[in-house]
Amino acid sequence: MSTFKRRDFIKSSVMAGVSASMLDTTPWEKHTASDTVKITPSASPKKVIVGGAGLAGLCTAYELVRRGHEVVVMEAAGRHGGHVFTVLDGLSDGLYGDFGMEHICKPGYDKYWGYIQEFGLTALPYPRRKNLVRRIDEKFYTEEMLRDAAVLKKFGFNEREVKYLSQNPWWDLESLYTKPYLDKFKDEYQPFGVGYDHFDTVPMADLYKKDGASETALRFLGGTSYSAQFELWRAGILHLRGVPLAPPEVFRLKGGNQMLPNAFAKRLGTRVWLNCPILSIKHGNTGVTVKYKQFNEEKEMQADYYVNCIPLPAFKNIPVSPPFPPEKQYVLDNVTYDSYQRFVFQASSKFWEEDNLTINMDLNLPDLEQVWQSAEEVDTHRVIVLGTGPGGVSPQRALAAFRSVYPGKRDTIEYVTSRDWTKETYASTCERLPFAIGTLRKFWPEVMKPHGRIHFAGAYADNLNWGTEAATRTGNRVAEAIDKA
Ligand SMILES: Cc1cc2nc3c(=O)[nH]c(=O)nc-3n(C[C@H](O)[C@H](O)[C@H](O)COP(=O)(O)OP(=O)(O)OC[C@H]3O[C@@H](n4cnc5c(N)ncnc54)[C@H](O)[C@@H]3O)c2cc1C
Repeated sequence: MSTFKRRDFIKSSVMAGVSASMLDTTPWEKHTASDTVKITPSASPKKVIVGGAGLAGLCTAYELVRRGHEVVVMEAAGRHGGHVFTVLDGLSDGLYGDFGMEHICKPGYDKYWGYIQEFGLTALPYPRRKNLVRRIDEKFYTEEMLRDAAVLKKFGFNEREVKYLSQNPWWDLESLYTKPYLDKFKDEYQPFGVGYDHFDTVPMADLYKKDGASETALRFLGGTSYSAQFELWRAGILHLRGVPLAPPEVFRLKGGNQMLPNAFAKRLGTRVWLNCPILSIKHGNTGVTVKYKQFNEEKEMQADYYVNCIPLPAFKNIPVSPPFPPEKQYVLDNVTYDSYQRFVFQASSKFWEEDNLTINMDLNLPDLEQVWQSAEEVDTHRVIVLGTGPGGVSPQRALAAFRSVYPGKRDTIEYVTSRDWTKETYASTCERLPFAIGTLRKFWPEVMKPHGRIHFAGAYADNLNWGTEAATRTGNRVAEAIDKA
């Protein structure tokens, strides 16, 4: 049944006063837009409900559909994309800004790059980390200044650190301490049994200290809230992938990062149901029943599998019966995320160039942490400057914070808008935080393990919390697992 025919059916049924449950008699209908997916028929086709149409949900669904399975994606919000969200509304001259995810790197993001190629999208070099200036103790430092031995000594770094930082970028200080440990990691999904298991009860800061870090290095490296085993594993994963700790060369999608969720959603067509929050899940040995709300009616749908692509703090509030075993419940109850706000400033000129400055700044202000330029390729004299800050700060306060420290003569910012993720009903969390000290075995690999007919994909369900790469990796992992089941 085509979308058009289905809508007609729903409309006429509603008009005829047919009950809501009857509206859902053909949920696994043939969907439109499937002609744009090259489908390989499966020898054992399954029906799968995916929860959440963020990048992970869309990617999982696409990978299942192309393997010949029937999929419905239920999304609570009125748009797909989740934390990948490009805004144009309110901005002038065709400018845009990314409210959420904003860059990828190369190497790294292998799956993501694969989709860029497959869907014919354009990745643009994104010079947001070039010539970065950092505001430290209320003073701005260029990259050159932060390589100067005299400046480094004045900060209080020890001799070894001064030598390292005069030859390596500021952001790579951690490597001085972690590099000697990394060759032992052979499998990026296996943090255990490589000789560092005893480090899970040791804060990373203590390992830095034991290995000779100065008080100044400790101040910049942090490491008090996560374990040495967790951090060495994280660095080991990047080492195995050949990715620097903070890659200086990054990229974004032309037209906004929303282009990738859009490309998936276009191919999935009517399989993606918006404004359709999942309310509860029942599961057993042979399948799942998902209760959801659609067109203001509560309905149920059965499937062979449910794939959870909803971030865990939101998923935890969805009743699941029978309940998960204690080890999975521990993960749901204890996983922590950060959450912040993205500011989008529109200015009438590249005002910083008149002041001979860069706009790539780490401001380290309570209301505004960083700023950088985006949408450089749009053909206009106007510019977009993006910024990040905590939730609860008004865009005007963020602008005032910028103006309080901008080291040039004047800015030409004429408009500011923002998305405060901390206030979102369905997507209030941004990125998964490191697991607490001493808990790695409780979280890993439990966080990604399927439970019966329920699988887990999403940025939270991978070894590294690198958002969209983790989302696409886990989408592929789960699609393969269900396909092979
Ligand atoms: C400001 C910001 C900057 C970022 N920068 C980067 C970056 O530079 N690079 C990078 O790779 N990543 C970045 N990330 C992280 C990245 O955007 C996310 O990790 C990734 O998009 C998560 O995808 P996901 O599909 O796992 O989850 P989400 O995008 O959170 O999608 C989950 C979906 O589930 C839906 N949902 C919730 N509850 C229900 C329910 N009951 N029923 C149905 N649906 C529900 C939500 O509405 C949402 O659409 C950034 C994130 C933010 C917020």
